[in-house]
Amino acid sequence: MKDDYGRSISLQCPTCGGESFEHDEEKPDIKCVRCERVMTKDELREANGARIEEEVDALKAEVFKDVKADISKMFKKWK
Ligand SMILES: [Zn+2]
Repeated sequence: MKDDYGRSISLQCPTCGGESFEHDEEKPDIKCVRCERVMTKDELREANGARIEEEVDALKAEVFKDVKADISKMFKKWK
């Protein structure tokens, strides 16, 4: 079983779909580089909520597929 399931879930700007944001450490707000929309991290996370769930579901399916493949390999070895 491979163990590098690490995939970055990129957040998208709900206005323009841009994936680059500027973040000032002193402020809670982040700014989309492309359309300059300013929002809080929570707003951005909320806007991306459905997308993140989709990614997690896809990841689960991928892990399950690999586990199944590993198990069938194990059975083959026993024959
Ligand atoms: Zn934007």
